[in-house]
Amino acid sequence: MTSDEKWFTEKCDDSGSSFSLKVTQKLHEEQSAYQHIEVYATEHFGHLLVLDGYIMLTALDNFIYHEMMTHPVLFTHPDPRRVLIIGGGDCGCLHEVLKHPGVTQADQVDIDERVTRVAEEYFPELCVSNDDARAALHFVDGIKWVEDAAPGYYDVIIIDSTDPIGQAARLFSQEFYASCRRALGENGLLVAQSESPLLHRELIEAMQDRMVSAGFAEVTTCYFPQPTYPSGWWTATMACNDRALPGFRAQDAVDRGFTTRYYNEQIHRAAFAIPEFMNVSLDLPVD
Ligand code: SAM
Repeated sequence: MTSDEKWFTEKCDDSGSSFSLKVTQKLHEEQSAYQHIEVYATEHFGHLLVLDGYIMLTALDNFIYHEMMTHPVLFTHPDPRRVLIIGGGDCGCLHEVLKHPGVTQADQVDIDERVTRVAEEYFPELCVSNDDARAALHFVDGIKWVEDAAPGYYDVIIIDSTDPIGQAARLFSQEFYASCRRALGENGLLVAQSESPLLHRELIEAMQDRMVSAGFAEVTTCYFPQPTYPSGWWTATMACNDRALPGFRAQDAVDRGFTTRYYNEQIHRAAFAIPEFMNVSLDLPVD
């Protein structure tokens, strides 16, 4: 936290940007076996979760990210039943996945149990589905979990990881995507948080290339606002195991029968529209 105790500031050296939230109190701080964990009370964004100095979520705006990391991929799969979440220790994605009545099993695999225990204390609204009979929380490296998974076992794999550094770096690799592809069944879909289109375009394109090189038949990226992440603009990149991405179940999204606060059928359609600058090849000089 900056020298001014009333503000938490995340500084991103690679983009020369920073983002601050006015805080009223530091509620928790610890060094787990994997990362530094902090929780703050903020004046207007509710509780704030920070890992290794990076904003993970706030109570006010996390719904956008958690809904867009889950509902587009689940309404694109024809009949998602077994879902794997890699990372996601705050349990926000798990809560959204379990809103889908057809889901019979949701495995959440986060390397750091402390993130979940802290979330249970300071973000109970994200953990309300943790006791769902379909949910299973595991605390191991996602790399190993996927390597050990039975071939074709999962319908959807969601990679809700920290940035591509430290223990999360390998979750952005071609090798890991190939391992995910093996663990996915026919029609299987992978989706990974893929950072900011404004600041990390090269990474998004590298992730798309790695997924195709790993054998996925088609890759696409969706775009959505995420106010408390660098640039305020975020993405998720989706890949289809063995065929062209199916059209999404639009009528099921309309008739979903559960509440969302950002996602709906129109948002789904709009999120996959590609911004013009992402269509321009990287090697052209930016005029
Ligand atoms: N929405 C956040 C973002 O976009 O940065 C991510 C939230 S979630 C808290 C990220 C989680 O990824 C963390 O809890 C971290 O422990 C987990 N993680 C990092 N590397 C991992 C790995 N190799 N296997 C499983 N979980 C991992």
